[in-house]
Amino acid sequence: MIYLDNAATTKMLEGAVDVYAKYACQSFFNPSAGYNKAINIAKDLERVRNIILNKLGAKGDVIFTSGATESNNLAIFGSKRNGKWEYVFSEGEHPSVYNVAKELESQGFIVHFIGLRKDGQIDYEQLESVLNEKTRLISTMHVSNETGAINDLHLIDKIRQKKCPKALLHIDGVQAFCKLEYNITDYNIDLYTISGHKFCGPKGVGALFVKNISSLKNTVFGGGQEGGYRSGTENVPAIMAMGYAIEHYNTKENYSKVESLKEAFLAEIRKEDKIDTIEGDSPYIVGLNLKGVNGETIMRALQDEDILVGIGSACSTKKAGNRVLNSIGYNLNEIKSHIRISFIADLTIDEAKFAGKKIVEIYNRIWENVK
Ligand code: PMP
Repeated sequence: MIYLDNAATTKMLEGAVDVYAKYACQSFFNPSAGYNKAINIAKDLERVRNIILNKLGAKGDVIFTSGATESNNLAIFGSKRNGKWEYVFSEGEHPSVYNVAKELESQGFIVHFIGLRKDGQIDYEQLESVLNEKTRLISTMHVSNETGAINDLHLIDKIRQKKCPKALLHIDGVQAFCKLEYNITDYNIDLYTISGHKFCGPKGVGALFVKNISSLKNTVFGGGQEGGYRSGTENVPAIMAMGYAIEHYNTKENYSKVESLKEAFLAEIRKEDKIDTIEGDSPYIVGLNLKGVNGETIMRALQDEDILVGIGSACSTKKAGNRVLNSIGYNLNEIKSHIRISFIADLTIDEAKFAGKKIVEIYNRIWENVK
């Protein structure tokens, strides 16, 4: 199998599976219990919080969650305040942000949606034009899961400092964390979302970084775990396995490997003029526009060859992908003929080339029938 849908999810590291098993079967104690074995588990969780803080290059709190969807919900609903506050999002957000924004809107809050530029980044001028002293929260993504575009967080922070220095900045970092080298303190980020299964950790676990915990309100009520911000017994095996995956992710080395994979892949694709490539800023994600052919048809034909590609965000409906591509100016035909390729460093150059060749071959075969 050649798996090219790593933006949807990644295979867990075997070492992370071992860690998971250890904390499921041997060190299975509830971290909130009082005996030493349990206290040691609570200490292990603290170690993972520090691993995350180190990787982010930040000081603050880390709240463990069930994944990025929950982290995004907590960041946004937890920042919500009554009164005439305004909330700012972009049209390019993942549904776990976009649909929360829509919910805020339906509750009567003032919500602004910033459009996207042709390159997939948010429209910074429009951002500047909507921010004001009533802005409570700006929430956008670091790397787009649809296009690989990287938002200029420096610029977003600069605009925020100019127009609304007190507004909170939440960044959905799911497709950036571990994959890019950065330091979130450079951008004065208040809230940052990560998800375990995008960097070879387990599914159903994630975290929310919070710079200043007093800026957040509790949205889940219960036993008071996670400082009261996320009640419920922590998913210890998954958190520990996520910590392992972060520690074993070599960001720099993997980045340059993925760049070479992308180049080898695209060299094959570029041999066919009718296929347009959409290269975001992150080498991990590439879009292909297979003119005149339905992306879903190509995806199925590739599946028959044991090559798996995405046709948009897997955890959303196709509608969400359409929304994002539509807002960067794609027409309906372009949206229909789009597929998403997302890489991982342990792919070989030969596999990347082979996949590129196969896509061209299958595309031409289908094109002959539909033209
Ligand atoms: N945000 C982005 C940018 C994503 O790509 C995803 C996963 N597709 C999510 C949020 C949701 O992540 P999770 O599956 O952990 O809820």
